[in-house]
Amino acid sequence: MKVIIVGGVAGGASCAARLRRLDEHADILMVERGPYVSFANCGLPYHIGDVIEHESDLLVANEQVFREQFAVDCRTGCEAVAISSGDKTVQLRDVASGEVATEAYDKLVLSPGAASIRPPLPGINLPGIFEVRTVPDARETRQWLERGTSFLAGMGKYSGFQTVRPPLRAVVVGAGFIGLETAENLAHRGFDVTVVDMADQVLAPLDREYGRIVEKFLERHGVRVALDDGVAGFEQSEDTLTVATQSGQRYSADVVILALGVRPDTTLARMAGIEVGELGGIRVDEHMRTSDPDIFAVGDAVEVRDFVTGEWSLIALAGPANRQARIAADVIVGRDSRFRGTQGTAVVELFGSTIAWTGANEKTLRRLGVDDFEKGYLYPNAHAGYYPGAKPIAMKVLFRKSDGRVLGAQAVGEDGVDKRISELALAIQMGATVYDLEESELCYAPPFGSAKDPVNFAGMVGAAVLRGDLPVSHWESVEDGFLLDVREQVELAVECLPEAVNIPLGQLRARLGELPRDREIHVVCR
Ligand code: FAD
Repeated sequence: MKVIIVGGVAGGASCAARLRRLDEHADILMVERGPYVSFANCGLPYHIGDVIEHESDLLVANEQVFREQFAVDCRTGCEAVAISSGDKTVQLRDVASGEVATEAYDKLVLSPGAASIRPPLPGINLPGIFEVRTVPDARETRQWLERGTSFLAGMGKYSGFQTVRPPLRAVVVGAGFIGLETAENLAHRGFDVTVVDMADQVLAPLDREYGRIVEKFLERHGVRVALDDGVAGFEQSEDTLTVATQSGQRYSADVVILALGVRPDTTLARMAGIEVGELGGIRVDEHMRTSDPDIFAVGDAVEVRDFVTGEWSLIALAGPANRQARIAADVIVGRDSRFRGTQGTAVVELFGSTIAWTGANEKTLRRLGVDDFEKGYLYPNAHAGYYPGAKPIAMKVLFRKSDGRVLGAQAVGEDGVDKRISELALAIQMGATVYDLEESELCYAPPFGSAKDPVNFAGMVGAAVLRGDLPVSHWESVEDGFLLDVREQVELAVECLPEAVNIPLGQLRARLGELPRDREIHVVCR
């Protein structure tokens, strides 16, 4: 059996390795048009920030490993330029020489990834404007940053003021996770960073109130966030770039990073007449088979079902790409493996804090007209409060009102966020309810958690709401009634609701007489 795999990074390389493990005799050809296979694109922002110092650390495996260890005919600088599904052949072009050769396949796997969104804005090709997609992108960005740093450090426009030299300025266009990770890394390198996005929040998979937490947090760390304002174009004068926005703002920059998101690369699939979905990704079934039964597709290029909502979705994440690749390999050798759908589980680290999410968010549920859901907000400590360094986690959990099934979760905090969201991600995939979360037995010792872990807590809050033990009202729907703030003075010093009446929790039982009996009382705590 001859299998050709197009794309040699996350999905392609995983598929090739799995296929070899399952079938020692398969003839496997993996082609990659870029210079590297199996590189860690997830590490690129950290290489730009010099956290990952050496480029070689990003290269997880190379052509030689695939050839010698996996007996895979692995070719870099080799682009698949056409598919003829009728006679089951692929045309391969050698990038260096331009020569085209035809190779036959029994099964074809497409893992071409996604292309960066790059609108035709004036000046978008000016020097000093970079993307964060490939190893060469990161290399060029680093060279530019190093040149700029040494230029200003040595002489130039600020000579004579070297001791008070202003920092170099970076503008990052796009407030998704790649944009924010790169912004953080540039800030670490001493850049004065502004993030611009046309959306009204950062990190679109979060609900707006969680986006706000992240925005405030970025601002506290010196990163300016300019939202609701699309970029109109780029200009250059002498050695300074200017990013002009639709609202008329102008941001000066020494470097610009474009992180506007990605679009599935469906060029080959369209050429081959394979079905492409409404969202623009290659349509696949649960076996990762395209509309052509001998062609499989995986990774950023495909459209798959959302595990929670059942809707088609595009999720550009490494985890799904790797799992889908294994499934495609399994199915090619005759196993009945199935992709369960994606939950979009993701995590980002910014300035020592972690932001993570899984499953459906509230805005998606509302957009889809789902009203059978409730939400709970909680702020448990990441580990026992009496053990040093306990920090709260801000958690939002969404669950079905009718049966308590967990639908999604978001969390922000300095410690223990990733494990809680990972636990909740697994719970969602297993169809767990808030009642199951209440009963989950999770590991505990004071440095790691609490006897009632935040995930147990999330279940207890959700179950208390559903059992009617804790009727809940939400800030956006409270119109009248009596607002009672039960926070202590020290908490009110941090933030308060001016229109609320404060009776600290410790005094509440003694002061119940002060509460009105003719109005609904909405209680606010931390
Ligand atoms: P890719 O890994 O992009 O591989 C596709 C390859 O196919 C490319 O190398 C391309 O050159 C090649 N190709 C395309 N067309 C052809 C052709 N016609 N012929 C030959 N070769 C072709 N995900 C996470 O889950 N967590 C993270 O923290 C994270 N961080 C990221 C940070 C950055 C900067 C980037 C860019 C991505 C990040 N991702 C992260 C996303 C993750 O890397 C992708 O979801 C994953 O790599 C997708 O795998 P893929 O195989 O579909 O595509």
